[in-house]
Amino acid sequence: MKSLKILLATQNKHKIAEIQAILPEITFTIPEKCLDIPEGSVSYIENALLKATRWQKEYPNHYILADDSGLEVEVLGNAPGVISAEWAGKDATNQEHIDKVMTALENEPNRKAKFVAYIVLLAPTNSSIGEPISNIFFSRGESLGRIAPTQSRAEGFGYDPIFLAQELDYTCTLADLSSEQKNSISHRYHALIGIRDYLLYLIGNKNG
Ligand code: IMP
Repeated sequence: MKSLKILLATQNKHKIAEIQAILPEITFTIPEKCLDIPEGSVSYIENALLKATRWQKEYPNHYILADDSGLEVEVLGNAPGVISAEWAGKDATNQEHIDKVMTALENEPNRKAKFVAYIVLLAPTNSSIGEPISNIFFSRGESLGRIAPTQSRAEGFGYDPIFLAQELDYTCTLADLSSEQKNSISHRYHALIGIRDYLLYLIGNKNG
């Protein structure tokens, strides 16, 4: 196997655990320092690229894997979308973000929603590592569902306590699932599966 370094460009412990569980063959470098990277409100790709290029400055001899994701609610014109992390305000609590969605959907029969994730993989800028096949690789994944009529009492990451996944026939929220169950249907799972073969090829595990 090639000794290839891949930085997981996030400090979010939920994402780190999820991505490592979905790609157990890859030993990621986890950033030790904190970077404050202000996100834009235009597109997931732009934000994922912003994170990747910012982290690349700190780790020039690594591949950089960055993601950006959000919740899209159909009747809200796909809001909160790219600003999901700041939907009820920059300093709002997770519960305040959830409350804002639930209030906006009060008496609303159409509760269709989805989670969307974009993954960006940037090749190292340090050429001594060898020529990468591609300097940049994108993947997208989504998980269809509905906003639950009431919030689950189970704790979960972000909007998990109010999201019922179609893949589970809307039987329970993502917060009610084990991490193994969530990791097998999540938007990040679907996006990471699109990039998995290329990552395995890079580490010399597969022909690609
Ligand atoms: P970002 O990708 O870190 O910008 O995430 C944006 C926001 O989307 C997060 O802060 C969460 O509120 C929400 N989000 C992203 N992925 C998930 C998920 O898997 N479950 C619940 N909420 C999520």
